[in-house]
Amino acid sequence: MKVLVVEDDPAVSEPLLAGLQRNGIDTEHVGYASQVVLAAQGVDVVLLDLGLPDGDGIDVLRELRRVSDVPVIIATARGDETDRIVGLELGADDYVVKPFSVRELAARVRAVARRRRVDSTLETGRVVVDRSQHRVSVDGSPIELTAKEFDLLAVLAEEPGRAVPRQELFSRVWDPVWVGTGKTLDVHVASLRKKLGDPELIETVRGVGYRLAVDTA
Ligand code: CA
Repeated sequence: MKVLVVEDDPAVSEPLLAGLQRNGIDTEHVGYASQVVLAAQGVDVVLLDLGLPDGDGIDVLRELRRVSDVPVIIATARGDETDRIVGLELGADDYVVKPFSVRELAARVRAVARRRRVDSTLETGRVVVDRSQHRVSVDGSPIELTAKEFDLLAVLAEEPGRAVPRQELFSRVWDPVWVGTGKTLDVHVASLRKKLGDPELIETVRGVGYRLAVDTA
């Protein structure tokens, strides 16, 4: 997961970049409107400050939308409702109001990226998860999974290599409210590992949760 942070004020961008990296999100950074379209190539989400030294962020968004459907979160000043509305009309996916916390931004980044991927096929090297057809294959061979196993794998496959916290897995696959010990989660992971044919595809991250291995070919 990589985010392009468009922000001209180092007092904002520096803690933001460090904070996103702490949250397991890779970053790129530009401070000028003229750099955005090029820099947005190959990132998963763009965080766009609307007040830039060489142009209006709204114009940047319009220009970006002509060439790209990358998810965009706009950052607006408190009370600047017009910018927010125009931004959303022009195809921004979400907005944050300054000052915002890194945790809030990280959650929104993951949410907009997730919405874009709902019907997409997740290819993680050996594992392919086709969400629209509800199919999974490993090394090209189809695998039969239960609905819960499928959902669990799909969450892990959204971001291979990311240690997904147990609580997030539990709340997204079973119930928003975390109850009990989460034994159900471990049982499903064990069964998923067996069906995938290679237990090392799903790694246990002690004290955190699970992650889908990258480059285990
Ligand atoms: Ca600014």
